[in-house]
Amino acid sequence: MKPLELKIYPEPCLRIKTKPVENFDDDLKETLQEMADIMYISNGIGLAATQVGLGADILIIDIGEGLKTFINPEIVEISGRKTKMEEGCLSLPGVIVEVARPEQVKLRAQDRKGEAFIKVYDGLMAKVVQHEMDHLSGKLIIDYLNPFKYFFTARKLARSKHKSGRISQKEKQHVG
Ligand SMILES: [Zn+2]
Repeated sequence: MKPLELKIYPEPCLRIKTKPVENFDDDLKETLQEMADIMYISNGIGLAATQVGLGADILIIDIGEGLKTFINPEIVEISGRKTKMEEGCLSLPGVIVEVARPEQVKLRAQDRKGEAFIKVYDGLMAKVVQHEMDHLSGKLIIDYLNPFKYFFTARKLARSKHKSGRISQKEKQHVG
């Protein structure tokens, strides 16, 4: 398998809709390991499969509480009020967007072995889950900008020579 690498906007893979994982095999294990390596080396707190060019329903998240793996995740309920938070994205270097999202999500997913679970998340974890779930339907934080800001941000990114998603420790808390 070709090593995975972080994909930066405007790579078309960031806009694909993903498909369910069916085989919980060694390939999946390897993919998860590579995704974790990429997330940690880039100082991210979350990473979706589309960000490494894969069209599969896979997310990993670590907000400082250990690595969590979500295969075939599905939001079954959102609740709480919408609050705004500044978010960044490893695939959109240097871009920070204030996004309003509900404070609580109930998520159904499978772990790395295929074991199904349902869990409720709130606070930062709920926000990161929603950010990463957006990735699996090809949605990016710049899609929350108004059309005017979107146009200029997208153009700036497309022209940017900055090809690394690595960000400073200071930005880390926002980035998935
Ligand atoms: Zn992201």
